[in-house]
Amino acid sequence: MSEGYRAPTAGTQRVLDGLHSRGNVRAPSSFLPGVLARVGLQDAYWQQGTPIGPVYVAYGEGGVSAVRQTSSPAHFEEWYRARFGRPVTQVARPPRPLADVVEQRLGSDAQGEIEIDLRGVTAFQRAVLQKTMEIPRGEVRPYGWIAREIGRPGAVRAVGTALNHNPVPLLIPCHRVVQTNGRVGEYAFGSAAKRAVLEAEGASPDLLENLARRGVRYLGDTEDHTFCLPTCAGMHRRLAEPRFVTFRTPQQAVSAGYRACDVCRPALAS
Ligand SMILES: [Zn+2]
Repeated sequence: MSEGYRAPTAGTQRVLDGLHSRGNVRAPSSFLPGVLARVGLQDAYWQQGTPIGPVYVAYGEGGVSAVRQTSSPAHFEEWYRARFGRPVTQVARPPRPLADVVEQRLGSDAQGEIEIDLRGVTAFQRAVLQKTMEIPRGEVRPYGWIAREIGRPGAVRAVGTALNHNPVPLLIPCHRVVQTNGRVGEYAFGSAAKRAVLEAEGASPDLLENLARRGVRYLGDTEDHTFCLPTCAGMHRRLAEPRFVTFRTPQQAVSAGYRACDVCRPALAS
């Protein structure tokens, strides 16, 4: 008996008995791994199209466990076993609800509930990753914002490390976290990929870089006197209108009579 083996539960056993009783009815080759993954006996993965090309998405009993770009299925399987200590088997298609929700989260504004397996990460990493999931599509937040929001303002570098080890890039949108100076910065799939995903989501990386180069980290609305991070949904719309001013620091905004937007909470980004 190999280490990590768990005796099938009654429900699992029924599924396995059901499979056995299929007799010589031949299941599609992808069927068995898919079923075993659903009942928690074996992890499975499939190839999924994304704005930055195909990625491999793996899942098991705890939900989606990994998203990764590798040069071949064999490399993915090797990497998966090294990182998680268990094998993973390719299936042509994942179970329907999972396929739909992954598709939605990767490709549109609709954000269905998704189960992500974060059992292998520390409490700090989990806090970072969960906070990252709150960043809306089309917006970005600095590393320092995440650190402050989770109550660890001094841990900016550790936030970067936690995001680098994000097991499920794209699904947990670590691409929406940018450098504290506003530059787009690095990414697990490379900085060109980060720019491409942000562009596809409607957060203009060119605009972000342009503002960062000019030292602009906050925008103030000249009508209601609130100030925001540049991609805050409300502020982004106003960029088309000549009704905003720019600030380099929260202090500068506050002393000009502006108050922090309570949606993007920009004062936490300093
Ligand atoms: Zn705002």
